[in-house]
Order: sequence, then structure tokens, then C-alpha cells
Amino acid sequence: MRKNTVQSQRNSKVKVGYQEIDIIVEKASFSKPSDSYGEFDHRKNLISIQEDLSDKDYACTLLHEILHAIVYYYSLTQSGEPLDTESKEETVINSITNGLMAVFKDNPNILKEFQHRIHNVR
Ligand SMILES: [Zn+2]
Repeated sequence: MRKNTVQSQRNSKVKVGYQEIDIIVEKASFSKPSDSYGEFDHRKNLISIQEDLSDKDYACTLLHEILHAIVYYYSLTQSGEPLDTESKEETVINSITNGLMAVFKDNPNILKEFQHRIHNVR
């Protein structure tokens, strides 16, 4: 029962550029097997994340899917752009996600510092 409450609280939105993307937690039924824990669907403007993940896997998956949304909405996946194949996109997204997650884990104050500096811009 408590788990369902926590899961439903995770359903939210994230703004990426001009779009507001819904984030839902659901049973895994993703179209791309390479994204085993989550999926970004630009047609639905939706990030789906598999239910029952650990907090660490949830955070990593959410960051990964947000990065997919960023590269899509900022046109890096268009023909002739740096991430114009699924293989290139997945390699880059995985590397950046795993690198950032390691930085966040190894530097517990870095997110607070970003938050402070971003929201205190003069
Ligand atoms: Zn991916």
C-alpha cells in the first residue's frame, strides 16, 4: 500500500525547452528493449518509468530519459546532427547519464550548489 503511494507521488512533469513532459510510473511495456527501465515518447510527450525500481535506478532512468528529451527537442537527433542514429544517441546518453550519476553520488553537495547558483542568478 505504501509503495503505491510513493509510486503515484513520482508521477509528475518535467519542462524541457518549450515542452512540458508527463512522467508516469508503470509496468514495463516499452517498445525499445534497449531502454529496459524507461522510455521517452516524443509523440505522446511522455516519459514512462518502470514501476518498483530502487531510488537509484529511478533517478538514473529519469535522468537518462530527460537527456533523450533534451537531445530530441534541441535537434541533436536530426539527420546530419551528432546523434542521428539510435546507436550514437544511446551511447552518448548512457555515457553522460552514468557520468553525471557518478558525479552526483560522489559529490553530495553539488546538486545543492547548482540549485543555489541557478536560482540566485542576478
Ligand atoms: Zn536510452
